[in-house]
Amino acid sequence: MRDASHAALAYAAKIHAQHGYETCPERLCAALGIRVIPGRENRAVNGPPSIITLRQDRYAPRQKFTMHHEIAHVLIQRAGLEDAVLNEVDGDDANEHLEAVASHMGAALLMPASLVRQAIRDWGDRPEAILRIQQGSGASFPAALVRYVTHDLEASRGAFATSGSYVAHAASINMRPIYRYDRVPDPRASFPEAALLSIPNRARTVGVMVF
Ligand SMILES: [Zn+2]
Repeated sequence: MRDASHAALAYAAKIHAQHGYETCPERLCAALGIRVIPGRENRAVNGPPSIITLRQDRYAPRQKFTMHHEIAHVLIQRAGLEDAVLNEVDGDDANEHLEAVASHMGAALLMPASLVRQAIRDWGDRPEAILRIQQGSGASFPAALVRYVTHDLEASRGAFATSGSYVAHAASINMRPIYRYDRVPDPRASFPEAALLSIPNRARTVGVMVF
């Protein structure tokens, strides 16, 4: 990740700390002076006035994360870094890059570093840490998995979850990629270095590895 992205993430962490790491998006918006109104698309403008418009979405955990993502856009704008973040990559990829930074920041607003560190202190680098992050935040399982892997951008970490014989969710940084939809009939054989947890009633195995 580049300088402007780092600066934006540091700014967001500072503001979040000033507001006691509030993770409820409605309360965080109120504290930050952001109005939330229904709209036809998910959008955020710092203004003034700061306004987030949200489409209706029945899947509650995702809706919650959508709000954090939009709060992140406001914070990137407040930091005065939106153009600098966009300019970190070539024009064609600029918007996708900005969206990735906003999603990373949004995940940190929903699942603060303190929660992630506590989960890893309690469980070590094991699949249970992901479940702890999920339970402690109300995030979706895939969001907790990505946050577990990416909370430390310097580390070499990977995690996956199978559904039946396939990889359903995966994330990795600074190591070989793990691909969704790969067939893994035997996770122990495919990922001998991983700590595994099987969740029998969901036909799911969760694996975690750190190098
Ligand atoms: Zn966005």
